[in-house]
Amino acid sequence: MTDSLKLKGLRKRLVDDLHRKGINDLKVLQAMNAVPRHLFFPSDFISRAYEDAAFPIEADQTISQPFTVAFQTQLLDVNPGMRVLEIGTGSGYQAAVLCQIGAIVYTIERHELLYRTSSKKLSELGYAAHCIWGDGTGGAPKYAPFDRILVTAASPEDVGVLELQLKEGGKLVVPVGDKNVQRMMLVERGVENNFTRTFHGEFKFVPLVGKYGWKPEI
Ligand code: SAH
Repeated sequence: MTDSLKLKGLRKRLVDDLHRKGINDLKVLQAMNAVPRHLFFPSDFISRAYEDAAFPIEADQTISQPFTVAFQTQLLDVNPGMRVLEIGTGSGYQAAVLCQIGAIVYTIERHELLYRTSSKKLSELGYAAHCIWGDGTGGAPKYAPFDRILVTAASPEDVGVLELQLKEGGKLVVPVGDKNVQRMMLVERGVENNFTRTFHGEFKFVPLVGKYGWKPEI
């Protein structure tokens, strides 16, 4: 699998752009400078991989816009060694960024095709994420509790099931709202089931579909 000086240059330019747009967590910027985003792209469109834009992948899903990945990861406040659950593996790019930071990553994808493609890609690139195929709206109780939980699809606002899979001091970042627009919600778990919720701007994600998510479109 190939990287090149040209692609590295484009990647650095994208990271500088993210910094200008307000991303200042060095861990996030360094990780995004290291992960070859183009390798998570459909092969015909590699030249588009370092634009700050979302892009369609298989199964009518999207690889999130780099700014969104950077913003969510910064808000999540990840440190090396933390146990992190991602819901919505998609291309696997966000999971790779979390691995690159040094987190222990569990990631769930409901589309079998995407699960297969992304788990293969992550392992080929040496990212040791634990990939799970299934409905992630109920979290991953078997592997809980987590230091951090990140949802990368648009969720209904009640995320009580996920909150309970956080450790004390844990954080959950999830875009909540209807299918057209979502607010980025940060939930911080304090002691004795004390949860603090704050909101951080508007975004647009594909819907989270499943038991505690939205119903599949017919
Ligand atoms: N994090 C991804 C982008 C995700 S797009 C990346 O870096 O490329 C959102 C993903 O969430 C889609 O792949 C979609 O299939 C998945 N998804 C939707 N509902 C889900 C659910 N209930 N459980 C797990 N994955 C889900």
